[in-house]
Amino acid sequence: MTTTTTPLLPIYLDYAATAPVDARVAEVMQRYLTVDQLFANPASRSHMLGWQAEQVVEQARRQVADTIGADPREIVWTSGATEANNLALIGYMRANRERGMHLVTSTIEHKAVVDTALALESEGFEITWLTPGQDGTVTTEQLRAAMRDDTALVSLMAVNNELGSINDIAALAAIAHEFGAVFHTDAAQAVGRIPLNVVAQEIDLMSLSGHKSYGPKGVGALYVKRHPDIRLEALIHGGGHERGMRSGTLPTHQIAGMGEAFALIHKEYAEDQAHIANLQQRFLAGLADLDGVVANTPLDRAVPNILNLAFEGIDGESLLMALRDVAVSTGSACNSASVDPSYVLLGVGVPRGLALSSLRFSFGRFTTQNDIDHALTLIRHAVSGLRTLPR
Ligand SMILES: *Cc1c(COP(=O)(O)O)cnc(C)c1O
Repeated sequence: MTTTTTPLLPIYLDYAATAPVDARVAEVMQRYLTVDQLFANPASRSHMLGWQAEQVVEQARRQVADTIGADPREIVWTSGATEANNLALIGYMRANRERGMHLVTSTIEHKAVVDTALALESEGFEITWLTPGQDGTVTTEQLRAAMRDDTALVSLMAVNNELGSINDIAALAAIAHEFGAVFHTDAAQAVGRIPLNVVAQEIDLMSLSGHKSYGPKGVGALYVKRHPDIRLEALIHGGGHERGMRSGTLPTHQIAGMGEAFALIHKEYAEDQAHIANLQQRFLAGLADLDGVVANTPLDRAVPNILNLAFEGIDGESLLMALRDVAVSTGSACNSASVDPSYVLLGVGVPRGLALSSLRFSFGRFTTQNDIDHALTLIRHAVSGLRTLPR
């Protein structure tokens, strides 16, 4: 017999990159795969198994819709928030050229918006890039100043994935509407972290992801308001699924998983919030006496599960190395020659050096107080170790 040593898992503080699937979600997903289960194509009209699979998809559609105050008919399944962002931006701009060729967005959007806007620019659309303030948010005054007669769409994220900063999407949507434009928000990091209601907040298009909210990776949705003005051109053509907006056989297990995950987020919102607020306080308190720790996250207007911190005088990559047993993220991009600091941190005015000394810690439903305490010990040890090195 071979003996195996159980490897110590790193403490996972990278929930903003992805969250584990909730065991209750995984259990639901396993019902729609094998031969003795409901594996049929939800688009099959010719037999009962197809109708039953369709019912599973429709229930999940309702669960996702209920979480954001939408009608189930307004949910279009996609492969994730990346595809939802592509469909919202490209699909809307291409279908509404006669309304205007101008799009307003910000410099610190997720790459799935930034790179999509750049692709639109190369197609002849015009983009205005708003620079958020140090607190990572765009103001209504900034947006108002950028609006033009030919602005067709405004796309501003609800919660920033690196900073945790919260935009006032209701106020920003109101400005877009005042100028006759449509408002899209990337809410991948917002679900379960801030109250979302597409009716009250007057959102026209909203991108959602399964895996940031304890659902599976590879599934997401775009909320598309039912209104004659909100028309989208499909990016993926085929069988005409999802009312022609997104063709492709629906993955029943993925969709049922996302539905269950969102239903749990909806039901357990208060418990999740209380748990995370508690962890955040514990984490901040544990670092309070450490010199030279600067919060890039605007603590008074951010979700409590994301903490982006700069450690003055310490290189982020070295800190990452010293923190092998804690899974966190830097947001910087490695090239062969050098390390580029996070464009989001640079975008909110964090100096280059400090941006390179920054790490993003993010917590979730399954993070324990023990995880936090253990991580604090490792961080304090790593920081003091790196600071005593001759520089
Ligand atoms: C993770 C994330 C995405 C991408 O979502 P996928 O479902 O992984 O495609 C988009 N926007 C934000 C803000 C995110 O955090």
